Amino acid sequence: MHTRALLLALAIGSPAVTAADAPQQRVVLPTDVVPTHYTLAVIPDAAHMSFTGSVQIDLDVKRATRQIELNAADLGFGKVSLSGTAEAPTVSFDTRQETATLSFQQPVSAGHHVLSIDYSGKINQHPAGFFALDYDTPAGKKRALFTQFENSDARRFLPCWDEPGVKSTFTLTVTLPAEQMAIANTPIVKTEKLPGGLARITFQQSPKMSSYLLFFGAGDFERIHRKVDGVDVGVVVQRGDAAQAGYALDAASQLLPYYEDYFGVKFPLPKLDLIGGPGQSQFFGAMENWGAIFYFERDLLLDPKISTEEDKRQVYVVIAHEMAHQWFGDLVTMAWWDDLWLNEGFASWMEYKAPDHFNPDWKLWLRSVDAKEEAMRADARASTHPIITPIYDVLQASQAFDGITYEKGQAVIRMLEDYVGADAFRDGVRAYMKAHAYGNTVTDDLWAELDKTSRQSITQVAHDFTLQPGIPLLRVSATPKGLHLVQERFTADGSGKPALDWHVPVSIASDAGKPLWHGLVSSGKPADVNVPADTLAVVNAGQAGYYRTLYDAASFARLSARFGSLKPADQLGMLNDSKALGLAGYQPMGDFMQLTTQASPALDTLVSQQLVDHLTDLDDYYQGLPSQAAFRAYGRKLVAPLFAAVGWDAKANEDKNVTILRSSLIDALGEFDDPAIIGEAKQRFAAYLKDQRSLSPDMREVVLGIVADHADATTWEQLHGLAKAATSNLEKRQLYRWLAQARDKSLVQRALDLSLTDEVPATTRPALLSAASHYYPEMVLEFFIAHQDAYTAVIEPASRSRFAPRLASSARDTGIIPKLEAYAATNIPANARGDVVKAETSIKEHAVIRSQRLPEVDAWLKTHS
Ligand SMILES: [Zn+2]
Repeated sequence: MHTRALLLALAIGSPAVTAADAPQQRVVLPTDVVPTHYTLAVIPDAAHMSFTGSVQIDLDVKRATRQIELNAADLGFGKVSLSGTAEAPTVSFDTRQETATLSFQQPVSAGHHVLSIDYSGKINQHPAGFFALDYDTPAGKKRALFTQFENSDARRFLPCWDEPGVKSTFTLTVTLPAEQMAIANTPIVKTEKLPGGLARITFQQSPKMSSYLLFFGAGDFERIHRKVDGVDVGVVVQRGDAAQAGYALDAASQLLPYYEDYFGVKFPLPKLDLIGGPGQSQFFGAMENWGAIFYFERDLLLDPKISTEEDKRQVYVVIAHEMAHQWFGDLVTMAWWDDLWLNEGFASWMEYKAPDHFNPDWKLWLRSVDAKEEAMRADARASTHPIITPIYDVLQASQAFDGITYEKGQAVIRMLEDYVGADAFRDGVRAYMKAHAYGNTVTDDLWAELDKTSRQSITQVAHDFTLQPGIPLLRVSATPKGLHLVQERFTADGSGKPALDWHVPVSIASDAGKPLWHGLVSSGKPADVNVPADTLAVVNAGQAGYYRTLYDAASFARLSARFGSLKPADQLGMLNDSKALGLAGYQPMGDFMQLTTQASPALDTLVSQQLVDHLTDLDDYYQGLPSQAAFRAYGRKLVAPLFAAVGWDAKANEDKNVTILRSSLIDALGEFDDPAIIGEAKQRFAAYLKDQRSLSPDMREVVLGIVADHADATTWEQLHGLAKAATSNLEKRQLYRWLAQARDKSLVQRALDLSLTDEVPATTRPALLSAASHYYPEMVLEFFIAHQDAYTAVIEPASRSRFAPRLASSARDTGIIPKLEAYAATNIPANARGDVVKAETSIKEHAVIRSQRLPEVDAWLKTHS
């Protein structure tokens, strides 16, 4: 799955629970009865948002039993029968554990049985289980149907063994209006015409797979496709949008042979579809159903009117992520949610590796330094958790889809690949695929294969970084002969955390990139490295390592003075480390501020972009403080020459990284209240209202964003008019979000009120609250609490416990915490409050930064303006 809003990590489970004793405590089904095949027939009633189903499940009963327990949620059972007995079992439901128990008077004998269940269920408005997305077309409103089962919502579609470790084959039959297109994991084998304009469609039997990967979709679709390596690769979109899907088809066609080669296994299904749905989730962007990957449109389609260069890259990256899962996740699957990172960390790493192979000019490895930074922010807090973390039940599993699982996961995999070498790493992955195809694994199965293909053992290093939480800190001090390295733990909020020991793979190179030293540093084993006297040494050269580097003052000053001579990755590393170390009190904030003075048009565009992002991030901490004006003045002064070098308008055939940088710079100057930028944006907006062709998609996004931020009642209404008139769902979604992002509180209130109406597409309504929470977290949290019933139907159940904490998490004032806690006490089950803990930790951190670190920045500004 590809998630959104990963910025925060969380605490899952109690610290006393270790991975080793977790299995006994898990809420899982008994293993004495297991399914081998499902024959499933479903008849949707889209108009009434309901469906009926009938399933025959081939069972292997391991020992005689009087009870069969399986998962079912929101399903009503009709007739239930079991082959080999005339007895009708009694059925009881546990709505909390989402199970149904069939009880028999006479024991069911061991061996093969077929369990038949007739049932009915609901089609949801929110994207979980079986759901509908409604959308506007020139021919009126339409409704498309889809399924979304990760982590554990297949049980809302059919009674089943809904655990990743239980793999079965599936044969699906659906009855639909004959004019609709139906899509599932496998191709259609039979279509029968039925009376009343209906058709009964049967799909080919699936391979053995986990229930969360099953997929079904139906609607007024179009499909474009081509054969790649014998596989029918297609993109399925709502009728009329096929022209926007060509890029996705090209990307998928390019990536398929790459993955077949990398994994050493041919794509296991006869077809692969990428399916776009109009709408969005508060939780995920795309889902790797085997052979039928679902995407919300923004991660699949490119609308020539509004899609930017950044959108194009995002589409490619998300396709790369989901396609990597077709092997890593779908063919070989984690046995339980404890090892979710194995799926998500790997796919998130492939988001960089595979697209980089085809698009080296995107410099994705530099971007991955940024993604690692997100993970480190979360991992430095008390609320973090190890990558491999005990998951007790389904509710906890949904909380495991976080920045630690995805971004720390990818960063650690990158470090391990760098440690053993790319070829040895790939060979280990190939052996792992071969050994476990159609099966389930735990993380150690991967390390075992990598240990066989690598010259050095990977297990110790891998365990240190996956079984322990947190981030190593390397203290680096200059010695007469070179450098002395000592390892300890980095934390954002100081004392009270156990000291941990990691075996950290460290690379040291000269500023020009010449390797000087490789080795492992642990707390029990500091390192002394000889460095030639005339050489400037960079620790974590290339930035593949997952740790912070804290140089002594003299070494930092030397590097800082020659910042321009460092490799771009190492420039990013210095910026990121010095800011994080400064905010956590390890290093003066002045050191980071000193680095910002190195801003120059000569820097790589990605370094400039990161530098500017750091400044806007600091600006957010200043919200409402009198000293913000001085900080913004500094921001304008620093960014102005960068902007002067790129200007408002794109040059013919310019480097697309410059196009992206331009948007960031204009955006930052808008945030820093630059009057010339805001004035020009308003003029361009006025021209856009007259002629929408006057702005390129990249310029449109940044101009409308600035106008929305600085909106008054008139411009807000103009944006509102655009939102109402927008013909595509993609565009509607974006415009409604902008309405909620104004600085003017009264306009934000109007946007919140709008989110309660049918005017806003259903799945976009909660997104307005998320957008508004940036400036006004308290007001938005209170609004949500007062109206939560209005959003229940449009937020998927698994993320309801996460929504309110996320709204609160950007708060800068701890006054919001009691309100969040009061809400959680009555609305969030006790074992699902991980996001509450993580939100509180981040709010407290913001408050400390405001009271302690910003004054350091203010002092630096006073002496340097
Ligand atoms: Zn994923």
